Amino acid sequence: MLSNALSEHRISLDGRRRIPYVAVLAFGLALGIFFVHSFVSNRFAVGVLYVVVVVMSVSFCSRRGVLAVAAFCMALTVISFIISDGPNYSEDYIARCIVSLFAISVATVLAVRMQSVTVALRSQAELLDLTHETIFVRAMDDIITYWNRGAEELYGWPREKVIGQVSHHLMQTRFPAPRERILAELLLNGRWEGELVHINRDGAEVTVASRWSLQRDARGAPTAILETDTDITAAKQAQDTLAKAQAKLAHVTRVATLGELTASIAHEVNQPLAGIVTNGEACLRWLGRDEPQYGEVRAAVTRMISDGRRASEVIKRLRALAKNGEPQQVTLNLNDVISESLALMHREIISHRVALEVDLAPDLPVVRGDRVQLQQVIINLLVNAFQAMASVAEARRALCIVSRLLTSREVVVTIRDSGPGIAAIDEARLFTAFFSTKSDGMGMGLSICRSIIDAHGGHISASANNGPGATFQFILPMHGSEAA
Ligand code: ADP
Repeated sequence: MLSNALSEHRISLDGRRRIPYVAVLAFGLALGIFFVHSFVSNRFAVGVLYVVVVVMSVSFCSRRGVLAVAAFCMALTVISFIISDGPNYSEDYIARCIVSLFAISVATVLAVRMQSVTVALRSQAELLDLTHETIFVRAMDDIITYWNRGAEELYGWPREKVIGQVSHHLMQTRFPAPRERILAELLLNGRWEGELVHINRDGAEVTVASRWSLQRDARGAPTAILETDTDITAAKQAQDTLAKAQAKLAHVTRVATLGELTASIAHEVNQPLAGIVTNGEACLRWLGRDEPQYGEVRAAVTRMISDGRRASEVIKRLRALAKNGEPQQVTLNLNDVISESLALMHREIISHRVALEVDLAPDLPVVRGDRVQLQQVIINLLVNAFQAMASVAEARRALCIVSRLLTSREVVVTIRDSGPGIAAIDEARLFTAFFSTKSDGMGMGLSICRSIIDAHGGHISASANNGPGATFQFILPMHGSEAA
């Protein structure tokens, strides 16, 4: 009878039914109680001890099995009562028998209720195995307590191998911020989201979008962390490939822009070189006099050194712009990037006879970005502005470049020109690739500016001025505010 009541998960791997040792123990205990009750002593309500047998049966029996065990124990109680007290049936003995039967009934009701709660919880937990998401639970000391099938598939470790292990040791997790900071945020908000890199059982890197939720007990104390991971390794790789392709394209257009600026650049280099020659000749003259003019010579040599430095600076910037290197994220001040770009465009500004106004905010907070790419954005916007203003009278050509702190988290750079402005119909298409209104335009400049600014976590936009001309502006997050 008991073995029939054993639930189906007691079947061993070879298909044969296996009786768990708890069942054997419970059966032995029931027989022991029966023996003591019937033949040794009936002075106490010994039958009450069957409660233990009923409670033990919960771990190896189904609901019907528990009821069967309870009925079996009650029957043994009554048989013991008949054996030990029949045919007297004293009141004392009857009372003890009733107490025992009552205790067994109450224990049975509680045991069945407890079992149905456990079954419900188990089936809910089994539901988590159906999801494609990777879900695991860890205690506050990061010991894994639950590992669903999705986690087995993604990370390769079977459940029984990981339970009890420290999650971030097992998966050599790389966190986007110090772990203490992440945990502090989790404790504060009850949840955390971010990108993690785990190492799976085969040693391969798995990038996941991870969401953590904190479980608290009735008193509000944190008890466990539920981590749900979505594999974004492929998307991440595609993103990296796209970023590399964009960087290559940016490089090509940068070189093309430099080609457009050749005359200005040649002038920028030529001017200090000519200065060096002139000062060198002056030096020779002052040295050739009967009384060499050392003071003049020293001043001329000083000018030669500064001219030499100027030329080498220009060449250094050009080499940086022409180089096809990996983008490098550094902390930089946008005012410096603007000044460096303007230095390269010096001649362009003069030859286009543009009235330039530069209004840079003092103490502008730093941003994080690639210096060359941000220079490319500014140069692109400036070149476009010059080209646009070529069609208006020289006296009306004005360009204003402004940097400001926009909010407590963002800085903004604005470039306003006095050209023909932007037609309303074109406004939405300006930043799309291959859109150009110029006969020889490629239409890639603004689209690349947008991908550069987007990659920096910022935003670029254009609008027609109230008066003549157009305004382009880009906003970048201040360094340190990106993760906030
Ligand atoms: P391209 O310069 O090769 O045309 P861009 O992507 O740099 O490519 O510019 C796309 C188009 O945006 C330009 O053809 C022009 O019509 C418009 N545009 C860009 N800057 C300005 C500006 N400052 N004023 C008016 N129109 C502009």
